[in-house]
Amino acid sequence: MMSNPTPNSSGNGSDFRSIASQHLLPDFQGSVLTDGDFGFDEKRKVWNQMIDKHPDMIVTPTSVDDVVAAVNFARQRDLLMAIRGGGHSVAGLGTTDGGMVLDLCQLNAVWVDPARKTVKVQGGATWYDVDRATQVFGLACAGGVVSETGVGGLTLNGGLSWMRRKVGMSIDNLISADVVLADGRTVRASESENEDLFWAIRGGGGNFGVVTMFEFKLQEIGPEVMFVACAYHRGELAKVYDFWVDFTADLPDELTTDCMQWSIPEHPMFPPLLHNQPICMLAGMYAGPAEEGAKALQPMREVAKPLMDMSSIYPYRDIQQMFDPHLRKHSLRNYWKSIYVNELTPNLRKRLIEEGWAKPSNRTIISIRHMGGAIERVPVDATAFGDRQGQFLISLDSMWTGAENDEANIQWTKDFFNELSRESGGQVYFNFNYDLEGESDLLSDSYGPNYQRLIEVKTKYDHNNFFRLNANIEPISREG
Ligand SMILES: Cc1cc2nc3c(=O)[nH]c(=O)nc-3n(C[C@H](O)[C@H](O)[C@H](O)COP(=O)(O)OP(=O)(O)OC[C@H]3O[C@@H](n4cnc5c(N)ncnc54)[C@H](O)[C@@H]3O)c2cc1C
Repeated sequence: MMSNPTPNSSGNGSDFRSIASQHLLPDFQGSVLTDGDFGFDEKRKVWNQMIDKHPDMIVTPTSVDDVVAAVNFARQRDLLMAIRGGGHSVAGLGTTDGGMVLDLCQLNAVWVDPARKTVKVQGGATWYDVDRATQVFGLACAGGVVSETGVGGLTLNGGLSWMRRKVGMSIDNLISADVVLADGRTVRASESENEDLFWAIRGGGGNFGVVTMFEFKLQEIGPEVMFVACAYHRGELAKVYDFWVDFTADLPDELTTDCMQWSIPEHPMFPPLLHNQPICMLAGMYAGPAEEGAKALQPMREVAKPLMDMSSIYPYRDIQQMFDPHLRKHSLRNYWKSIYVNELTPNLRKRLIEEGWAKPSNRTIISIRHMGGAIERVPVDATAFGDRQGQFLISLDSMWTGAENDEANIQWTKDFFNELSRESGGQVYFNFNYDLEGESDLLSDSYGPNYQRLIEVKTKYDHNNFFRLNANIEPISREG
């Protein structure tokens, strides 16, 4: 009988090195790092500084064959596997204590087909890689608004871009995906191949396998578009909310806007006099001709006298990188929670204003995204995502420095989130949530009528729950 030796999980790096070199490396062309190897500690880091985990091994594949070898190796030895795309999961899903991190960062190639207006993107690419390749042709893919974020995690749980109201979420632009399953098989999922898997990965996260290739539809955009980023004094917040609620009541799909409560970061791009000033900011992009956008977005710049107005016609790629300097990898401790609401009622606005100024850290952003448009026109059962009717997504992005401040920030976020939940059906956006485990109704409330089918598809493709570091959909137990 073939034996599959399992390293002793005592954290002894040399055990892993020797087992890996005997049983994984013959098939594996990428790198394998274990504790004590040069670069291991740097590779342990993910975006959220609060996450400090010690995997047994970090493997970095350079091909689909390598991914298959790593999945087989981990499965045969019952090693917990964390799939890492861009490493931006606030919940720290891209790493694990013990087990294997599958770091896809070397699988970051992007191929554009300008004639068909499509793009193929490897599973470890970031939105920077995608924007760079597609904008050369005046095309863009509906992806994240911070360029270092991974395509993988963002897409599989939805994907909210500055064009979301015009073209829907990233999943709504997905044409196909190549997936390495728990048993090591590689399959394609699309409208015509493994349709159930294709349905499930559009919202069901990393539950079903390792996506080694995404194929997306592209949009004609830019190279220049109108972007508004207008900061008002905190005293104007009530006026800003009143304006924004009216403004968003009837908007063309081209307009995607957010309202944020934040403080101006201490960064040389801002005047020192304004550093740390609490502000409310209206931000938004017009996904169409820049001059049309300038007219359509102008009212957002005239609510009151702005403290700072960075609105302009920008190259699309600059907009995609505008927030990068303030949200660098591993620079802040983070605890986020998000919730969909249908309406920003006067009472909700009052509470947002009060709590916005009571938050323990001035680095925290309360960001509210306007949804609707193309997102809500996709029927709920067309993808696994869940209900799409929520008009606003409120995200409490708590960020701070110093472990001594963890408790105050986490408690504030939990308390305010619990209060907001009472105004909502309980649906969260998994990509903006730290807590994904142990909250019994979180999955059923968020996936709604799709939850049962997700369990069935999970049972079909991953009945042993090998891929479980995610908002985990538990398969039906074979014994049960
Ligand atoms: C600064 C910042 C900005 C953000 N901006 C946006 C935004 O504009 N819009 C938005 O919608 N979200 C945004 N997010 C949230 C983001 O979508 C999630 O954090 C997402 O998990 C990031 O994906 P990743 O690949 O970088 O994460 P990782 O930590 O690498 O992965 C998270 C999980 O995703 C799954 N996964 C990743 N890649 C693959 C793959 N190839 N195959 C299978 N499973 C995979 C795995 O389950 C993995 O554990 C932002 C987050 C941050 C921190």
